[in-house]
Amino acid sequence: MKQRIIRSRVSPSEEGSYVLYWMQQAQRLEYNFALDYAASEAQSRQLPLVIVFVITASVSEAQPQHYRFMLEGIREIAASLKARHNRLYVYAGDPVKIITALSQAASVLVMDHGYLKWQRLWRDQIFDNLESSSIVELDTEAVVPVHVVSDKEEYSASTLRSKILKLLPEYLDFEPEISGIGSKPCQLAELDVVPCPDPTNILELENFGRTVFKAEAGKARASFEGGYQNALDKLREFENHKLGHYAQYHNHPDLEIQSDLSPYLHFGQISPLKIIDAIRKAEDGFGLRAILADRKNLSGDMMNLAEFLEELIVRRELSFNFCSYNPDYDNFAGLPAWARSTLLNHIQDSRERGYTLEELENAASNDVFWNAAQTQMLKTGKMHNYMRMYWGKRVLSWFNDVEEAYAVLLHLNNKYELDGRGPNAFAGVAWCFGKHDRPWVERPIYGMVRFMNANGLKRKFDMQAYLRKVFTGELE
Ligand SMILES: Cc1cc2nc3c(=O)[nH]c(=O)nc-3n(C[C@H](O)[C@H](O)[C@H](O)COP(=O)(O)OP(=O)(O)OC[C@H]3O[C@@H](n4cnc5c(N)ncnc54)[C@H](O)[C@@H]3O)c2cc1C
Repeated sequence: MKQRIIRSRVSPSEEGSYVLYWMQQAQRLEYNFALDYAASEAQSRQLPLVIVFVITASVSEAQPQHYRFMLEGIREIAASLKARHNRLYVYAGDPVKIITALSQAASVLVMDHGYLKWQRLWRDQIFDNLESSSIVELDTEAVVPVHVVSDKEEYSASTLRSKILKLLPEYLDFEPEISGIGSKPCQLAELDVVPCPDPTNILELENFGRTVFKAEAGKARASFEGGYQNALDKLREFENHKLGHYAQYHNHPDLEIQSDLSPYLHFGQISPLKIIDAIRKAEDGFGLRAILADRKNLSGDMMNLAEFLEELIVRRELSFNFCSYNPDYDNFAGLPAWARSTLLNHIQDSRERGYTLEELENAASNDVFWNAAQTQMLKTGKMHNYMRMYWGKRVLSWFNDVEEAYAVLLHLNNKYELDGRGPNAFAGVAWCFGKHDRPWVERPIYGMVRFMNANGLKRKFDMQAYLRKVFTGELE
């Protein structure tokens, strides 16, 4: 647990009438190191454990469907805590003000960590506001904490992978603690806002949140329903029917071999460690470290497991590393110098006709595969991974202004993907422009940035089946 602490401050005063856990990034009770830490502090100090979640105004492009998905998870946490004789206090407003105020009567404040700028800013402000209080912040989302793996921005998956591999066994070896979160009732610090009376009721929660989040969540349901139990259903489905085909078929957009866990991971509704624990029986005595290290030489179940772990651990944590150490993770300037200069060298190259943002949003380009990918995202809130790559790269051939192309892609991704707006979104879009990749043979428009085209899609996959799936509504 110690290495998961990102920063902490110990106050000389031991006063305070409860231990406060501010749940923000890790929206779950299971496999949540920050909650476990808070629960053990509450036990050792013999104080009540107070768990707080704050609904805030439209954070970083959040849309009604994101909001709904999140509240479905929050409702479930509230119900689960109630059954364990505790309560989830849900407030609506400015988290910095609310957590600062609630901390006045707390013996210690425990926070989870977020990798994005706005998440770090909130936590910095709380640290500054509470100069003389005890505070602890822990990394709950990475399998191997980002600050432990590396203290700098990594160039690519291969440089990060070797560092993760050295530490992996140590971080896979732990016992999840889910007991000890029951608590006796207590009096919270006085605030000028009151918590939601019954966050176990989704309609009440939605109405309550509407005071800060103006859009109506219920009107924009995504095809995925949020919450831990739904994440577990996806996990079981993956384990039983998809993992066995993962290495060979997860890139096929016409098939459904991906886990569909990304929206749940994005909102912290499930931990990657829970996922790993569920599927690791395929390791067959080899050890996950060895499997990941040797993934190119494996076959059968172990190869499937290795390919999945590569995505879940290495690729996902590469995006955490990117957002943690590159201040420009959200714009063109965050790309490596070679990628920026090769793209800028080609801005005068002739391109196909361009499109307005509205045309792109409405999937009205002249590229049927691009339109299908965009439509899949609009309909379900989740585009297939392989199509995300094609969809992202294709936009470059429509915009002379590559910085605008970058901004448009991020906007579309973050507005419509249910798993959007997180580190994977920023790293995924950046990858389309050369990040975490190497220079390829120079060509028009793309320069040395890797190129993808429709012929590649048609050669590798049954694209007619993909089009049918998207346009005739056989989607989830
Ligand atoms: C242009 C572009 C935009 C993207 N935007 C997002 C986004 O907004 N949110 C998002 O979570 N992912 C994004 N990705 C990465 C990837 O497409 C998704 O993580 C994946 O499709 C999610 O589906 P899944 O959970 O069924 O994946 P699975 O194949 O089942 O993988 C399991 C988990 O591994 C992680 N993972 C898989 N592929 C990647 C990857 N390439 N990079 C980082 N982590 C990965 C994810 O957490 C995923 O949930 C983007 C990729 C590109 C090229």
